[in-house]
This record gives sequence, C-alpha cells and structure tokens, in this order.
Amino acid sequence: MKKVVITILSVIYTISGIAQFDKHFEDKTLRVDYLRKGYKKEQQISLTAFKTKPGNWAGSTIHLIDPFNYGAHRVLVKDANSKEEIYSRTYNSLFEEYVATEKGETKTKTFEETVLIPYPKNAVEIHIQNRDKDLNFVTAEIFKFDPTSSKLKTIKNDVEVRQLHYSGNPHTKVDIAIVADGYSINDTAKMRKDFARFVKGIMKFKPFTQHKEDINVWGVAAISEDSGITNPLKKQHLKTAVGSTFNSFDIDRYIMTFEIHTMHNVMQNAPYDHIIVMSNTDTYGGGAIYNFYADVTTGDQVEFVVSHELGHLFGGLADEYVDPTVTYNDIHDLSKEPLEPNITTLVNFDSKWKHHIEEGVPVPTPVKKEYLKKVGAFEGGGYQAKDIYRPVIRCMMNTGGNFCPVCQEALEKMFKIYTE
Ligand SMILES: [Zn+2]
Repeated sequence: MKKVVITILSVIYTISGIAQFDKHFEDKTLRVDYLRKGYKKEQQISLTAFKTKPGNWAGSTIHLIDPFNYGAHRVLVKDANSKEEIYSRTYNSLFEEYVATEKGETKTKTFEETVLIPYPKNAVEIHIQNRDKDLNFVTAEIFKFDPTSSKLKTIKNDVEVRQLHYSGNPHTKVDIAIVADGYSINDTAKMRKDFARFVKGIMKFKPFTQHKEDINVWGVAAISEDSGITNPLKKQHLKTAVGSTFNSFDIDRYIMTFEIHTMHNVMQNAPYDHIIVMSNTDTYGGGAIYNFYADVTTGDQVEFVVSHELGHLFGGLADEYVDPTVTYNDIHDLSKEPLEPNITTLVNFDSKWKHHIEEGVPVPTPVKKEYLKKVGAFEGGGYQAKDIYRPVIRCMMNTGGNFCPVCQEALEKMFKIYTE
C-alpha cells in the first residue's frame, strides 16, 4: 500500500513539474554568456550575449529548482512580473579558484562564463549569485531577458556530433558531451579511439556502471589546426579548437581551458548537461569544476581520470587527498561545513555522513588496519592535512578504486534529478 501511495505521489509530482515547465519554458535552450572580472575583494559581472542553440532543452523538465547546495555560484531565474523563482542551478568557476591563488589576492583578471537555462516563454530576470560569508546566496548581477524584444545571437557551425552512447530522450538522461581538442585533420583515427576510451571510463566505476541506461554520451568531433595542446612551460603555444592548456593557475598538470564561450560555440550542435574536453596529449593530467566543465588528457590512466573528474563535474565531490603542492590559500573555512558532500570539518557531521558510521568506529577515525574498509572520518582531505576529514582511507576521489559509500550516495541522489 505504501508503495502505491509513493508511486501516485511521484506521478502527481512529475505531472506538476512538467506543468510548471510548460507554463514557463519552451523546449529549447537559452545560453547566457557573460564575463566575471575582478580579484579576491571585488568582482563585476557583465553580459556578453544571449544565444540560442539548435535542438531541444537537454536538462530535466521536472527538477527545475536545484535541490543541492554545492556550488559557489547560482543562476536563479525569476519570472519578471510575479518574481516567482522558476529555475536554478549552482556551479563553481575558474574565477573562484583564481581568487584563492596568490595573484588573485590583488590582481584583476577577467574570466568567461556561460550558463544554459531552459528558454523562457515570458520576460525573466536572470540572477547571477555568489555566496556571502555565511554561505547564503546573494545576487551579484541581474540580466533581463524578454523573448519578444531581447537581442539573440545564433551561432552556426558544422562541427560533427557523434552519438557515442545513446539511452534515450535527453530530458531524462544525463547528457555528457565530449569535445575533442588538439586533434588535427591527421588525428581522426586517434580521435575515434579516444572517444571510445572516454566512454569506457565514464561507465567503468560504480555507480556509473549501474546507470549506463541513464547516460547519453555525445562526441563533438572538432578539428584543430594543430595537434596536441598548449604547454606554456615548454613554450608550446598551439591553435586548438577550444584552447586547452597545461599549467593552469601555475599547477603543471592542471589542464583547463579559459575559452569558455568558444567551447560552448564549438559544441552547440550537441545536447549536453555536462562537458568533458578531451585533450590530445598522452601526458597525465586534467581538471574539473562542478557544473562547469572538465578537461582530461588521453594518457594511459584515462579511465580513472575521467571517472575521478566526473566526481567533481557531475557529483560536486571534493578531492579526498592531501596535496601540499596545491597552491590555493584559505581553502576551507574551518568554522563551517564545506559545501562538498564528501569532506567534513566535523562542525555539523550530522549533515554529512554520520548515518554511515557503524557502531564502534570512533570519530575522528585513526588510520588503522581494522578501519581499512570502514566508513569513518579520517583526518586529511580537500588538499589539507589537518582539521578536514574524509570518509574512507581509499576512494576514487582520493588515490583510486571505487567511489566510497559516501560518494556513491551523493552521486545516486544526483542521478535522480536528471533521470526522473
Ligand atoms: Zn569518497
């Protein structure tokens, strides 16, 4: 009986969600390109362009309001007349990482950002929000969009999109687009092989293995002028489709692109919730930013790296390792819980994974043989050796292996909002 009630409730919920979507949105995408300029103490946000892309909206038509509280920023869409909140998503950014570096403390720098939202039927306010010191969202800038009068740019290109793994309608699937970067016209055979390796990496570890049928993977077969990617430390500056580079924020193996608007232009013929740039170099490296994009190289550990970066990109998970070479300052405010679900300061452990701790496992948990396979709270995580705790000794978000039970739970919850 209980199950029947739950089923009926979820059907009602689903219908009301779709009704809400149909009331406010068309089944296509509004792309919002803007710039975020500043340094640690100050920033300005300015609109570059409203754009459309071909095809339908790739996201959920039911979960319009972000149920999680992970990212440093949030896009919040309000109906311009009623002020009703009709869509939101949280995300992280390159800017947020920049301001934690030494340069970012004093030097102004400009970063490109893009958010995709379902296409509004009526006039809306698009709020770009940041967190205040209590971690509440506050509006930093409002872009007004009116479908009857706002200027809209259309980008046209014929970059080929391949269906690498198809499970069904993008509304109820996690759509991951892999964008080839640094593949010249002579690298097309390698591109084909590398796409297949990335798809394998996406599906390889639990819980992604069990969700194969909840995932679509699209290959954006962009051709670059040069072969390989830029490496400033080797004075190698290459012309590639989306501009991936080694040594982002002076961390050698941190491979990212700063050409966010170009990246979205290149991939606009694909439906996508998430972006993985596939960088054509066999040197180990990569990086990922929650709900923003990931970049992964094609070295021999590609399956592990793809999966690990998906943990950040899709799951909002933190790194569970300690890394003294990470050059960011003041990474964690120790008086609060970090936003990521898989690290804790123990300030409010109930809100994290206390429900996973078996009786007899002490918190904090010492690194001892008897706790090797237990969920606990082990000191060291989120790059920091002291006062930050991680759930297990070994996890995909640390040195490898499967995602730990805490990470798996967070990922399962995330799958739900894409696939219901
Ligand atoms: Zn974990």
